[in-house]
Amino acid sequence: MSTSSQGSSNRNSNSRTSLKPSPNLKSKPTQRRNTTTTATSAAPKDHTTVPGRVRVAVRLRPRNAEESVADADFADCVELQPELKRLKLRKNNWDGETYEFDEVLTEFASQKRVYEVVARPVVESVLDGYNGTIMAYGQTGTGKTYTLGRLGEEDTAARGIMVRAMEDIFANVSLETDSVSVSYLQLYMETIQDLLDPANDNIAIAEDPKTGDVSLPGATLVEIRDQQSFIELLSLGEAHRFAANTKMNTESSRSHAILMVHVKRSVKGRDASHSSENGNHPHMVKSLKPLIVRKAKLVIVDLAGSERIDKSGSEGHMLEEAKSINLSLSALGKCINSLAENSAHVPIRDSKLTRLLRDSFGGTARTSLVITIGPSPRHRAETASTIMFGQRAMKVENMIKLKEEFDYKSLSRRLDIELDKLIMEHERQQKAFEDEIERLATEAHHRISEAERNYADSLEKERSKYQKDYMESIKKLEEKFVMNQRKNEDSRIKSSSEVVIPGVSAEEMADLKKMLQKETLLRKAAEGETNNWKIQVAELKQSEASAKSEISKLHKMLEDEAHQKEKLEGEIAILQSQLLQLSLEADETRRHLDGGGFDKEVGGRDSLTSQIKHQQQVSGNGAKPSIAKLFEQVGLQKILSLLESEDADVRIHAVKVVANLAAEETNQGKIVEAGGLTSLLTLLKTTEDETIHRVAAGAIANLAMNESNQELIMAQGGISLLSMTAANADDPQTLRMVAGAIANLCGNDKLQTELRGEGGIKALLGMVRCRHPDVHAQVARGIANFAKCESRASSQGIKSGRSFLIEDGALSWIVQNANNEASSIRRHIELALCHLAQHEANARDMIKGGALWELVRISRECSRDDIKTLAHRTLASSPAFQAEMRRLRLSH
Ligand code: ADP
Ligand code: MG
Repeated sequence: MSTSSQGSSNRNSNSRTSLKPSPNLKSKPTQRRNTTTTATSAAPKDHTTVPGRVRVAVRLRPRNAEESVADADFADCVELQPELKRLKLRKNNWDGETYEFDEVLTEFASQKRVYEVVARPVVESVLDGYNGTIMAYGQTGTGKTYTLGRLGEEDTAARGIMVRAMEDIFANVSLETDSVSVSYLQLYMETIQDLLDPANDNIAIAEDPKTGDVSLPGATLVEIRDQQSFIELLSLGEAHRFAANTKMNTESSRSHAILMVHVKRSVKGRDASHSSENGNHPHMVKSLKPLIVRKAKLVIVDLAGSERIDKSGSEGHMLEEAKSINLSLSALGKCINSLAENSAHVPIRDSKLTRLLRDSFGGTARTSLVITIGPSPRHRAETASTIMFGQRAMKVENMIKLKEEFDYKSLSRRLDIELDKLIMEHERQQKAFEDEIERLATEAHHRISEAERNYADSLEKERSKYQKDYMESIKKLEEKFVMNQRKNEDSRIKSSSEVVIPGVSAEEMADLKKMLQKETLLRKAAEGETNNWKIQVAELKQSEASAKSEISKLHKMLEDEAHQKEKLEGEIAILQSQLLQLSLEADETRRHLDGGGFDKEVGGRDSLTSQIKHQQQVSGNGAKPSIAKLFEQVGLQKILSLLESEDADVRIHAVKVVANLAAEETNQGKIVEAGGLTSLLTLLKTTEDETIHRVAAGAIANLAMNESNQELIMAQGGISLLSMTAANADDPQTLRMVAGAIANLCGNDKLQTELRGEGGIKALLGMVRCRHPDVHAQVARGIANFAKCESRASSQGIKSGRSFLIEDGALSWIVQNANNEASSIRRHIELALCHLAQHEANARDMIKGGALWELVRISRECSRDDIKTLAHRTLASSPAFQAEMRRLRLSH
């Protein structure tokens, strides 16, 4: 990144991406600084609206000579990812917390780069007329003064922020019209001393009640016109500071050094127009060309060491003194907390430092904070507290996390209610559907049977009617016939002369015909009627069928509803597992804040820490359930059952939750008892997902720290599952976890033969294909553990013959890495070599493989005395090595 683009892009992103304009260190909004009358009227109106989130950079100091020796065997307590602007604070071998900053500056960051990212945006805005502050916060010895105050007289590349800022200012002002003046002060035990005039040792702070401007009328203000005189001034200040501190018998780490640079610039109309270009009268501005005086103040503060006094050994201060020594620092912490929490009251009046920074911090001023940390794991607690200070200053990421957590909680609650409502609605609808179906069915039955009954009735009626008619007609015909016969006989008897035609008369014939016709008609009508009924029956049958299809449609809808319900329940399970995950993280953070050893030490608790703790308690307000409570709510069994969920997301969440729980020793027993270990091992087998493999292996590695769990892992075929996972994994982190788990198993005396028999050593060696040093360190640890157990077994006569490590071909890797640069790898291997060398059965292979040379080297130059002695003793007691060394004319 080029110098200028770096600076300007930072400035732009400031105004674009800041969360919200951070409030000034003022309890109520006040007017802008003491501008001259002309300047006030023409002052750029955006002055009061420039947003200014505090930009926070973290800078890591390289290991110093002492740490290089004393911490040689330990990893740094932090791991930086500058490209992601992240810092990871290591907790243990597997785990750590990650924090984001505006800038992450590694131990290799140059002073130039530090100036560009931390200070240049502030200096530029001071040149534009805004107040600005640059502060360095951190434990004594982490590089605050190195970052801010180095003069770089011998080596210009070493120049710190104060010197570079002044260079930038001089490059941008014109000495004819502008002026630059400087005060240099020390604040110690709430007293402000003038470093440019030591006699002046109690300077009062003046505050303009109207404008809120802060000034130190009693302080020496030196106008400077060139860089050289500035450097001389700084050296003079430093010398006075040293003398004053010697006189008062204090250390400079207890005081704050404050450099104030007042820049007064005259800006011609045209120049000024850019700030009033959205004003309405650019032509007026141009023609009048008013002279605008821009006054701004740059304050650079090299804060007192953030460590608690008791720790670094108080030099016999009385209690009262001890309290006021860090008063300003803790007041600054409190103000930052209040600002970060947006709380109504910001306690600026509590200390001189906060009063002094009142018009230079946040709000209309631009502020950069650089927090400095050291790499040593011995100061992990101080480093953690510095990091938390930085996080608060940039409005603390974990506050956002906490909010998220609250959102999840209420969302989950809302979904629960929603689900309950849906279930109720669903039940109601189901009941209504069933009632409707029953009603339709009975109605249909009813109608069908009625129709059938009607049909049968009318059929019967018709039939009997026709039968009756028919019988009547037959009867009539018979009567007629009898009557006719009787008539014929009578007439034959009465008038024998008369001729009688036998049979019927023409009249009767016509009657008979008519009757027949009528009958035919009636039958036809009956037939029509029957057809009608038939049609009606068919229609009814059809309506019954459509009712049935309606019923099956309703069934389908019911199924859909049930499906939807299942889906919602799944989502709730995911949310609950996410909630648990978040709570775990929040809990972790809280413990981190609460803990870090602060509570263990009696008295002298850093008031910043207690402040943060208090805020946590207040903001928590008892609404957040403890993890134990959530545990009760969700239940370990439920979490473990989620490991088998069909939804991959749920599985991932669940395994993360289990892994987090497994990191705590107190939970491990419960997890194993509930079958968690078996579930985790099963996951390695049943899933292909690399994240799950990594997290599950991490959890197994944590559980594998316990001896009885190690046996369980073996008994459940853990070695072959871990070997399989190792063979398929590409991700170094996964391999590190798997190697860590196997390394833990390697340290169990009882499992040696079985572990080797199931390919544990081969799997371990296979992982060195990944070049990551962390993986190699775990492999080396496993080998050392194994060699140690083997050596114990050999000396007890349980094991005889060559080491399994040698048989499985580990020797050449061991020899190759015996002098590895990384101490975490080298130490384990040195120990492994000593253990292997203790048994004559291994001597021949070791000599052949070049291990003797390494042992000799270790016995001569290992920086750890105990290992050096061990190697020496081992060589001395082995006849085979002694013989070979005589042959080679080696002495040791
Ligand atoms: P502080 O002011 O925080 O107490 P110092 O600035 O005095 O710490 O630094 C302590 C020591 O560490 C000094 O010897 C300093 O030269 C060295 N140091 C600090 N930061 C760095 C760095 N980034 N690179 C090299 N040395 C450093
Ligand atoms: Mg210092």
